[in-house]
Amino acid sequence: MSDSNTTVIARKPSAAVSTGKLRVAFAGNPNSGKSTLINAIAGTRLHVGNWPGVTVEMKEASFTHNGHRIDLVDLPGTYSLSPYSQEEVIAADYLAKEKPDVIVNVVDATNLERNLYLTVQLLELGIPTVIALNIHDEAEKKGYRIDTKGIEKSLGVTVVATSAVRKTGLDELLDAVVSTADDPERHKPHDVSYGPDIDQAANNVLERLGSELAPVPDEYPLRWLAIRLVEQDERISGLFDERTVRIVQDATEHLRSAHGSDLESLVADARYAVANGVAHQVLKKPATAKVELTEKIDSVVLNRFWGIPIFLAAMWFLFKLTFDISTPFMDWMDTVIGVVSAWAGAGLAAIGASEWISSLVIDGIIAGVGTVFVFLPIILAMMFFVTLLEGTGYMARAAFIMDRAMRSIGLHGKSFIPLLMGFGCNVPSIYATRTLENPKDKVLTALLVPYMSCGARLPVYVLFTAAFFATNQGTVLWSLYVLGIVVAMIMGLIFKRTLFRGEPAPAFVMELPPYRMPSFKSLMIHTWEKGRHFVVKAGTWILLASIVVWVLYSLPWGAEKHDTLLGRTGQAVAPVLAPLGFGDWQAGASLVTGVVAKEVVVSTMGEIYAPAAVGEEPAEEEAVPTFGEGVTEIATGLVTAVGDSAMGVLSSVGITSIAVEEPGDDGLLGSLKGTFSPLSAFAFMVFVLLYVPCMIVLVAMRQEFGSWKWAGVSVATTFAAAWVVTFIVYQGGSLLGIGV
Ligand code: GDP
Ligand code: MG
Repeated sequence: MSDSNTTVIARKPSAAVSTGKLRVAFAGNPNSGKSTLINAIAGTRLHVGNWPGVTVEMKEASFTHNGHRIDLVDLPGTYSLSPYSQEEVIAADYLAKEKPDVIVNVVDATNLERNLYLTVQLLELGIPTVIALNIHDEAEKKGYRIDTKGIEKSLGVTVVATSAVRKTGLDELLDAVVSTADDPERHKPHDVSYGPDIDQAANNVLERLGSELAPVPDEYPLRWLAIRLVEQDERISGLFDERTVRIVQDATEHLRSAHGSDLESLVADARYAVANGVAHQVLKKPATAKVELTEKIDSVVLNRFWGIPIFLAAMWFLFKLTFDISTPFMDWMDTVIGVVSAWAGAGLAAIGASEWISSLVIDGIIAGVGTVFVFLPIILAMMFFVTLLEGTGYMARAAFIMDRAMRSIGLHGKSFIPLLMGFGCNVPSIYATRTLENPKDKVLTALLVPYMSCGARLPVYVLFTAAFFATNQGTVLWSLYVLGIVVAMIMGLIFKRTLFRGEPAPAFVMELPPYRMPSFKSLMIHTWEKGRHFVVKAGTWILLASIVVWVLYSLPWGAEKHDTLLGRTGQAVAPVLAPLGFGDWQAGASLVTGVVAKEVVVSTMGEIYAPAAVGEEPAEEEAVPTFGEGVTEIATGLVTAVGDSAMGVLSSVGITSIAVEEPGDDGLLGSLKGTFSPLSAFAFMVFVLLYVPCMIVLVAMRQEFGSWKWAGVSVATTFAAAWVVTFIVYQGGSLLGIGV
């Protein structure tokens, strides 16, 4: 049995070597420097891999080292391979099923003990492994002495000290990978002992896997399977039939009677003990262990009284810096898009393009995609600062500090970060729910994200407050943001009592990594990793949507606006909206297009509330609707307003009015004043704040949760909340005679 096993393991890698292709998987904790290391090794050759059915990104690269072709795969960063988060499941499944020739385990040398926990789990796979003892420069600076030979001896793997930042040890690492692959038998990791009882139970299971149990999913390494079965990993036992599960129960009977029934914790503890033991053996810290900087900072930052104020101040700075820094760039983007549009117009005219082609390109595509790209700088800036806070280790503290407040709505502190990011853009927030371990938490958090007022809603607020609340814009804006938060909390409580009943937020270990100044390069890499989602996904979807909206607003060709498909859609939804104070087809049509992206509400309004449209008969309409008209105008107004308003909104530091360049006062503002009352204008803003997430958010939900189900739930619940709240606002206001 063990012989045949050995040959299987030995055969595969040597075959791989002879074909000159080595499959190498990089695994490691978040913040172990994996991205930096891989970029230093593979650099520009890295690209995002195409992994069917996997929503977590994995990168790959191919290159040669000393004549060996290496196919590198970057697994998601994880603290363990337990089945608690999607990343962990993906990493574990990849390793267990694909069995790469070599695993490179990136270990943070300054945090040896915690990193070795993952190492211990990786060794269970029995795949030849090389440890990259990374961030070795910093460990040395701290005076740590790490006995790499000691690690090699106790775990049976090759250890190479590396510094991804200084680019040292990289060639040695690749050399070690190649020689490990050349002689996998000699580099087979030790079967690490988890103590006699667990070992015995695993062996029992292993024996029976070989004989009684059927059918064994043969793509998995046997010992790994055995340990998983002992610790009652449901995903693994689910692969077997009931009889097998009972046999496993038998085989672990002794363990259970000796240690209680929580075998999962038992095995986890055993792994910790191994990691701890190895760390103690091989690591010598300097005797004069000064109070670590990290502890000093934490004593202030996590202080019971100062923690929250410091946190709020940090957030305020984050938002303020985000807006301040991105404003000139948004301005610039806006100009660029204007220029592109003008050139495209001239170009199309020069080649004699037909009217509808010009309209499609300029009013549809450029205006639609352009409106969104104007916001790119603010998104990137936001991601940069979030990355900075993450990289330094502060974000983990933010979650820690907010834990208690979040628990009251059935979530815990980690959910706070995606929600916070939602104020910038809801799309990355949905992706950020990945950091949550429990799938229920992910879903619940994602359902609350749309209530966070994202940047795309600002243009609507800016427009309407300029028209109706010029003297107290800041307060009105602030009230909308707060309303969003309050509704989110109420919805959280409702969800907790309905969809997610009886699911208490599970206790979990708060990771408090040491503070560290992230390198500029790694900041850039991670900012782009976060931002490219927006560029790619938003870009493609907005492009599609812009075309669709343009078509809907152009057909039937030459028709009056209210008779276009979009106009008729507006008329169709108008009755639903009438009780909320805005029952005309224009408002309805704007809101329908706003599903694409909320800023589209404004661009649509810019067109259909044009001065001529105030009277029922739109006089002398040009045949081709210029859907994007007004976008540039408003974006310019927005850009000047965003910086100021953000301060008022986010800090409420006493800013009560904001100087807004009145966007087209003569046209759009005038029309709005003629159509809305202050009350219905406020109601409209409330509705825009709450009603359905934009399409891109829904697509993100679909990607994250694998089906349209939760996107559907999100649409239904946000729409219901929006309708009810707006109804209360409008009808209540009417009864009291406020602003009618
Ligand atoms: P990942 O989460 O594993 O991808 O980690 P990153 O590559 O983002 O690195 C986390 C932080 O550690 C960044 O601030 C890096 O600049 C820093 N870092 C990575 N490798 C090294 C290293 O070898 N030495 C030092 N001093 N810092 C490093
Ligand atoms: Mg990374």
